[in-house]
Amino acid sequence: MSNDVLVFAEQRDDRVHPAALQTVTPARALAEKTGGQVVACLIGDGLQAAAETVAQTGVDRIITISDPVLASYSATRYRTALAAAIAKIDPRIVLLSATFMGRDLAPRVAIRVGAALATDVVALEINAGGALDVRRPVYNGKAFCHVTLPKGRPAIASVRANTFPVPKGEGGATREPLAFEAAAGDDRMETTEIARTSGEVKDVTEADIIVSGGRSLKNEENFKIIYDLARELDAAVGASRAACDAGYQPHTRQVGLTGKTVTPKLYIACGISGAIQHLAGMRGSKTIVAINTDREAPIFKVADYGIAQDLFKVVPALTEEIRKLHGGP
Ligand SMILES: Cc1cc2nc3c(=O)[nH]c(=O)nc-3n(C[C@H](O)[C@H](O)[C@H](O)COP(=O)(O)OP(=O)(O)OC[C@H]3O[C@@H](n4cnc5c(N)ncnc54)[C@H](O)[C@@H]3O)c2cc1C
Repeated sequence: MSNDVLVFAEQRDDRVHPAALQTVTPARALAEKTGGQVVACLIGDGLQAAAETVAQTGVDRIITISDPVLASYSATRYRTALAAAIAKIDPRIVLLSATFMGRDLAPRVAIRVGAALATDVVALEINAGGALDVRRPVYNGKAFCHVTLPKGRPAIASVRANTFPVPKGEGGATREPLAFEAAAGDDRMETTEIARTSGEVKDVTEADIIVSGGRSLKNEENFKIIYDLARELDAAVGASRAACDAGYQPHTRQVGLTGKTVTPKLYIACGISGAIQHLAGMRGSKTIVAINTDREAPIFKVADYGIAQDLFKVVPALTEEIRKLHGGP
């Protein structure tokens, strides 16, 4: 087994997921302890632009597995491809980001290569015995669980998005193509249709800032004030389940236990009560701002800044002030 740390650099259409770039930061810190290199693995078709992006993070080597059958994500083929990269590098540690793809792929690869796995981790270190210690949130983020992944076989961990910054490096990584060889069972699952949502507004899992609206917006049209603020802040728009169930926003924007888990730098909750199921999806945000007319609303218990006012007044006023700061009319 080598001392290297392998990072799965998730990409779509030659664009690397920001969360994947962030995993290079803990990978570098771990590689400094193990005395190995940071090796990125890109899987897809083409991959020139993606490799360039990954190189800028300062990884030492980049394995590219490019094949037309890998153009879009396939759980089985990507599993086979990543297992092949693991066989080539024989790394001590493999990091993925805990995105939808990472969550789907990590356990499949762990089974395939006989690795230990910890998911959704927020801290990683090599302990005195040389094993990988990780910390992961449990019980909707109310507690942390410490897990030690045993030595002697690869340790795989998926890392929670927005936990680490994207590192900046020299960009001189070597590129090493690896041919894709299909394995038995790869075609057991076929993608028949890819329905893309509009790319106009950012996805909540990719954004540094999220402006979220609740049932109190009353209808879809009123969400315009949330979108206006989001646009000024270059933010994504999120929503509570009540707002999504009422049809004000699509469920792809739902934040919470049965929606998406987000960890942005700034989360602005507009007219959201802060039910436990909503908090489960956003309490890991670095700074939380709550706007709610009810001073007793539970959202204020997790908020860093609270505004006990009518959102229909506060949100447009905020948008206006930020527009002025940006030099707008
Ligand atoms: C199994 C299960 C899973 C669930 N999963 C999720 C999930 O993933 N995500 C999720 O969000 N919920 C989830 N829920 C639902 C959750 O319990 C709440 O019902 C939901 O989060 C409430 O949404 P809300 O805060 O928008 O609405 P409400 O609870 O109706 O709150 C509206 C808030 O807006 C405030 N308000 C009203 N008017 C104004 C105004 N003009 N200006 C400012 N504030 C105003 C009110 O004071 C109130 O606090 C789940 C529930 C269950 C049972």
